[in-house]
Amino acid sequence: MKHPILTIVVPCFNEEEVFKETAKQLTSVLENLQEQTFIDAKSKILFVDDGSTDETWPLIEEESKINRYVTGIKLSRNVGHQNALLAGLEKAKNMSDCVISIDADLQDDISVIKDFMIKFHEGYDIVYGVRKSRETDTFFKRASARGFYRLMRKIGINLIPDHADFRLMSKRALEELSHYKETNLFLRGVIPLIGFKSAKVMYDRKERFAGTSKYPLKKMLSFAFDGITSFSVAPIRLVTLIGAFSFLLSLCAAGYAFIQELLGHTESGWTSLMISIWLIGGLQLMGIGLIGEYIGKIFNETKRRPKYTVETDLLPYKHNVHSPQ
Ligand code: UDP
Ligand code: MG
Repeated sequence: MKHPILTIVVPCFNEEEVFKETAKQLTSVLENLQEQTFIDAKSKILFVDDGSTDETWPLIEEESKINRYVTGIKLSRNVGHQNALLAGLEKAKNMSDCVISIDADLQDDISVIKDFMIKFHEGYDIVYGVRKSRETDTFFKRASARGFYRLMRKIGINLIPDHADFRLMSKRALEELSHYKETNLFLRGVIPLIGFKSAKVMYDRKERFAGTSKYPLKKMLSFAFDGITSFSVAPIRLVTLIGAFSFLLSLCAAGYAFIQELLGHTESGWTSLMISIWLIGGLQLMGIGLIGEYIGKIFNETKRRPKYTVETDLLPYKHNVHSPQ
């Protein structure tokens, strides 16, 4: 393949402050790549408006009229980064040979997009952008990320450490991804499962160019919890183990109390009794909660609801348009 068509997918949620600059910088990347004959002239930047409440969508529309590289889709409501990204990937799959996903805030180093393309030309199907350092992140974010990757590896989920969603995927890798039908898709966990030849490209992550993070702590925690429970039953097994352990412990305590009784010492430990009841009750509630979490997952998966709805598409397919011939 000499000149592959590249689509850069950019999910945007209330990114009016950064949009213009992002569009400008990505456009110059595409122009350069095209000049160096790395990509075809039909390459595009696909902005996915994830139900923004600010001026993001009008800006995308405006830009698409004056910039031949820029196109966009508008989702009917905010569905979150992962689903917005998925919407973009599914749309991009049909119009390109390879797709690069990147955040709208220019935290990822766009100069390595060229390295992604070099790897693609060398025959790699997936190229992961991996952060060299996390100096710009807060201490808390760094520590929690490190703990998260370690925990995930322990329970058997193979994530690429320090890789977020800045990556290149070939058309056939995207085809494979579309066979993963789960509603609760954890992209970073699923993509390594696809296989194919993959490479890593290191880069420095920068500060957000403007605006604020759309990933507050609460969202980050639920993202991590979702990642774990979508991929592994290890937590539920842990609860079973704790349950078994506390059951054994209570057997020992019963034996001890029985012997005390035979020896004529009456037990007067109401406190310890109450503590045990609370302890066992707590463990049981925790176990039930966890099982509920998995059942909830099953419930959501069986509903097979759409993950997103495209409200407006600036580049509709010809074959989607009804024509008489
Ligand atoms: N984003 C999105 N939908 C959301 C939240 C975020 O499409 O509900 C986009 C956001 O516009 C950005 C990317 O996802 O392009 C990553 O978000 P952000 O930079 O806020 O996350 P952080 O880098 O702080 O983890
Ligand atoms: Mg960011």
